[in-house]
Amino acid sequence: MKVPFIDLKAQHRSLRPQIDRAIAEVIEAAAFAGGVFVDRFEKEFARACGTNYAVGLGSGTEALWLSLLAAGIGQGDEVITVPMSFMATAEAITYAGATPVFVDVDRRTYTMDPTQLAGALTTRTRAIIPVHLFGQPADMDPILVFARTHDLVVIEDAAQAHRALYRGRPAGSFGRAGCFSFYPGKNLGALGEAGAVVTNDAEFHARIRTLRDHGQTQKYHHQLIGWNCRMDGIQAAVLSVKLAYLEQWNAIRRERAARYNRGLRAFGEVETPFQAEYARHVYHIYAVCVQERDDLLASLRSSGIECGIHYPCPIHLQEAYRSLEYCEGDFPVSERIARQFISLPISAEITDDQVNYVVEQIGARLSATVVS
Ligand SMILES: *Cc1c(COP(=O)(O)O)cnc(C)c1O
Repeated sequence: MKVPFIDLKAQHRSLRPQIDRAIAEVIEAAAFAGGVFVDRFEKEFARACGTNYAVGLGSGTEALWLSLLAAGIGQGDEVITVPMSFMATAEAITYAGATPVFVDVDRRTYTMDPTQLAGALTTRTRAIIPVHLFGQPADMDPILVFARTHDLVVIEDAAQAHRALYRGRPAGSFGRAGCFSFYPGKNLGALGEAGAVVTNDAEFHARIRTLRDHGQTQKYHHQLIGWNCRMDGIQAAVLSVKLAYLEQWNAIRRERAARYNRGLRAFGEVETPFQAEYARHVYHIYAVCVQERDDLLASLRSSGIECGIHYPCPIHLQEAYRSLEYCEGDFPVSERIARQFISLPISAEITDDQVNYVVEQIGARLSATVVS
């Protein structure tokens, strides 16, 4: 049996007539860069996130970067985040002119460990970026309390957590800004690149809107030095079509994750994802930890199962960040899971039979290891 990691072609096959119609409307209206379709999607997405505003952008990376700029963070400032994330989280901090400072993740949830924040605080600390890794919100309450106490801005990296919930409220709605990516493989994906910032803060919202359009508030009158980070009209129209399916798709992901959990429970050597009591996890990634990860990865591949590793090298050990002078051993949890993580196929398209097959193949591989 073939089990692709994700099957975007299958996702789009059933939506094709609606998507084609949406794209045709954009062409008819010639609203390609920003415009009415972006305005409409922004309203819909803000509603889905339970926030007052959303701003459509070109990518999730831009959402993080512009949020930092709009919060006034730059040269000489420090921003606390986690090393177990996609590179963009730290990159955005660097691109804003500030310095990323890492704290380790919790060993069960793989998200920011709030008890580590005090140790990373300096007089230069200005913001915290928790990452809702794999679709599970970080433990926001203690993070928000810490931020309030020390007058820090909270910017959520919700790129993997569309409609994940923390104590019943949507991820991205807690901080000054919630940053989303609509990269095609995300739980809500465009047909190209796109991202958004959500916020409840009117002034912050206005600043993000200005920054994404070359800092102009009126055509050719530039109040700020901004950049071109506008969302593409075609992407917005397609995202409006797909947003209507997000809850349903997330529910299927949660069902498939539960099936994996039940099946893999029999194998003591597999650490399955832990859903915290405060969370509705949306399983953008279903990652398990195993000792002999590389062997398992190769063996599953030879059985037609495509897996991934998110992420094989924590950000503090990336060559690009050598200048920060972190070293091996600084963040033991992130380093361990980077060695042990294997992401199993999960999506709204994967079938029960495919999940059963993956579980079976993992079982076969693990019992073979025990015997030899
Ligand atoms: C995907 C992702 C981003 C970046 O989003 P892009 O749209 O690819 O720029 C940032 N942070 C995390 C955690 C992501 O998964």
